[in-house]
Amino acid sequence: MIHPAPNVVVVGGGIMGACIAWNLAKAGIRVTVLEQQARPAAGATWWSYGWVGTASAFPSEAPNAFALKQQALREFASLERDLSSLPYAARGALVWCENDHETAHLVAEQQAVGVAMNLIDRLAIQQLEPQLRELPTCAAWAPNDFALEPIQLTQQLLQAAQALGAELRYNVRVDSLVTQGDKVIGVRSTQGDINADVVMLANGIAAQQLLLDYGVAAPITEAPAVLMRWQASETCVHHLICADDLELRPDRQGGIVVAMDYPEEGEAGLESLVLAVKKRLEQMIMPSPTLSLHSMAGAYRPLTHSGMPYREMCAAIKGLYVTVAHPGIILGPYLARLSVEEVLNYLANQKFIYGF
Ligand SMILES: Cc1cc2nc3c(=O)[nH]c(=O)nc-3n(C[C@H](O)[C@H](O)[C@H](O)COP(=O)(O)OP(=O)(O)OC[C@H]3O[C@@H](n4cnc5c(N)ncnc54)[C@H](O)[C@@H]3O)c2cc1C
Repeated sequence: MIHPAPNVVVVGGGIMGACIAWNLAKAGIRVTVLEQQARPAAGATWWSYGWVGTASAFPSEAPNAFALKQQALREFASLERDLSSLPYAARGALVWCENDHETAHLVAEQQAVGVAMNLIDRLAIQQLEPQLRELPTCAAWAPNDFALEPIQLTQQLLQAAQALGAELRYNVRVDSLVTQGDKVIGVRSTQGDINADVVMLANGIAAQQLLLDYGVAAPITEAPAVLMRWQASETCVHHLICADDLELRPDRQGGIVVAMDYPEEGEAGLESLVLAVKKRLEQMIMPSPTLSLHSMAGAYRPLTHSGMPYREMCAAIKGLYVTVAHPGIILGPYLARLSVEEVLNYLANQKFIYGF
């Protein structure tokens, strides 16, 4: 008797769900992606800055998380081959800290763990970013870091999954799991029950509630950060720039994307933050660009308590897999591959026969 290919439901159409769906579809699994919003990438991914690299962090601050990012970055070469192209917004990162001593320390630490990074002087910074007015005496230059447009990357992955047979369903919220004994057999959604051999949760912080219903306390939390997209009269910056407390990069239309810490005053501080960033950009760039704010949000990033991914087949409910991790654009492709490998092993152990 020939059994149909196993059926996996992926909850969440952000970067993590898209990476998972694509890996499942490549493996010949029947995939259904359920996303509660009307479009893909509508959660944290919509507001992501899209830095893919390690240059802004001191490895010694979180050695395990840093090493994981280094490992995950290797995945992008094969991702680019598989998808034919990636939505690059910038290549190379310039980073400077509060003072030259700290910047030199950053370079030394990164070099010690094998990152391609050099300490460059003001002249070299000027050659890379000729329109920057305020230049430090030195900066760290990481040629291999890059920025991807997270929304487009998510769309690309979902389209690639769809081309391999995955079904994408929007405006469908999963409210609970459907179980039989200790095994998941589907999800209960706003469009009724949907059967599944495996359910993979890639819905960020919202995974917590679905798990709590089964007494599983997921070690997930969330924290806000601010993303602003500015339209500019002309192309002003060419690389990822991390100038102490301000991160900026070009977008693919010549505008500027800025990422910042959330204001201490909370939402009330957002308006003055926008004005302060505008002023700072006008001062930083020459000639001062005409800037208009395209969009801005204080958006919540799904984080884990340990800072390391929460990625596991749930011990309490067979066939339920969870993948939540930060930073998701960097880690998504790598963790999704590992998660799907585990799910394939699980399915094989369940004695499914699916033709490979
Ligand atoms: C300002 C900012 C800057 C960032 N910068 C970077 C960066 O430079 N590099 C980097 O790697 N990362 C960065 N991140 C983090 C990164 O964006 C996130 O780690 C990543 O987007 C998380 O992806 P996700 O798919 O896990 O979650 P999400 O994108 O939130 O996707 C989860 C999806 O699940 C859906 N969903 C939730 N519950 C349900 C349900 N019950 N039923 C159906 N659907 C559901 C949601 O609508 C959502 O679309 C940044 C984040 C922010 C906010």
